[in-house]
Amino acid sequence: MPSHPPLLLANIGQLLTLRSASASSVPRRGADLKQLGILHDAAVLCLGGKIVSVGTSKDALRDPWVREKLKKNRKNVTEIDCSGKVVLPGFVDSHTHPVFVEPRLVDFEKRIEGASYEEIAAAGGGIRSSLEGVRKAAKADLTAKVLTALRDMAAHGTTTVEAKSGYGLTLESELKSLEAIQQASARWPGTVVPTLLGAHVVPKEFQGCSQKYVEIVCKEMIPQAARRKLARFVDAFCDKGAFAPEETEQIFAAAERHGLNVRAHMGQLSETALGPFLRFHPASFDHMDHVSDADVASLAKTDTVATLVPGANYFLGMQDYPNARRLIDAGVAVALATDYNPGTSPTISMPMAMSLACTHMKMSPAEAITAATINGAWALKLAERKGSIEPGKDADFAVFDVADYREIPYWFGTNRCSLTIANGAVTAGA
Ligand SMILES: [Zn+2]
Repeated sequence: MPSHPPLLLANIGQLLTLRSASASSVPRRGADLKQLGILHDAAVLCLGGKIVSVGTSKDALRDPWVREKLKKNRKNVTEIDCSGKVVLPGFVDSHTHPVFVEPRLVDFEKRIEGASYEEIAAAGGGIRSSLEGVRKAAKADLTAKVLTALRDMAAHGTTTVEAKSGYGLTLESELKSLEAIQQASARWPGTVVPTLLGAHVVPKEFQGCSQKYVEIVCKEMIPQAARRKLARFVDAFCDKGAFAPEETEQIFAAAERHGLNVRAHMGQLSETALGPFLRFHPASFDHMDHVSDADVASLAKTDTVATLVPGANYFLGMQDYPNARRLIDAGVAVALATDYNPGTSPTISMPMAMSLACTHMKMSPAEAITAATINGAWALKLAERKGSIEPGKDADFAVFDVADYREIPYWFGTNRCSLTIANGAVTAGA
């Protein structure tokens, strides 16, 4: 771990700590989604990339241990005057697909002309059209693409990113994609959580015999990604036109056998019964546009997060968005993510996802912030380190040049993030 000089964030107008209101450590649900733990005129001290003290300006530095540390290091302390701005935990973008080569401009135009998601896929567009570029690409070029996206994300306040493979769909190109994620993350101060999405779509060469492809995912991709520690999660796109529920279960079982956690794209285009998957304790079901009342009720009893990605609904020009209010009111833990990808959500901006959550899914600004920070951390099984500003957690912050946190989703289409700190290192905007 690199050694970071002590870091003091002072003169914070609103500090959104997101500290837990209850003693038990669980994802935020229901009314708790609105509890931002706001301190006014606040300061935060960090040492070695970790938060050590949080409080109002006069309290944060009073702790005797902190005073002793500061006395020894005073001249080495990097002090950041936040000038009355808003400081919150760095965003946790828990669903992104950054390993691709080209934007999908044909899809974009075809969709404007009225073609459906399925029609575009049938015409050779969609996910399959990104495969050739990734299969042919040099690993260094993919790494550069991922790193560019990570830096752009940091400039918009994101410090933790889940990054999926899934545009290669051969053993070799999926492993190459995961290696590109690994190499890019080594050059970025934030935290990257790699996910194997070999089960993104059935590639053309296996059309009509998807089971053969599932075997490659289960018997080759998953074991190798696990053995080489290239992935922490296995994801599957479970929907019509992608993988069947039984195939998704097979993939989850293989992931479990190899010690990897699971998550899935679920309910984007059609409803799938969730019951058979719950025994695998998925960290998250993502999209969730279509889900039954019974499944909403059973999900509310679990720690599986529903990760909503309204950027996809927006970019696909859909009238309907996931019903966040129904999920929240039933007690499901909800997170927000960008779903950054070339086909359906080409945005790296968490504030944009939050703005869409407010305007199209009727989430309050406070709920959107909780969903974009601590619940995103839960969706990656990182809540003990990420997503709130509390002593002992990683020093991940986004400083926004606004006076009130509600301005973060309010000013859409512009970037008000003025500084980002990840694991104690100033990452963007300095
Ligand atoms: Zn996705």
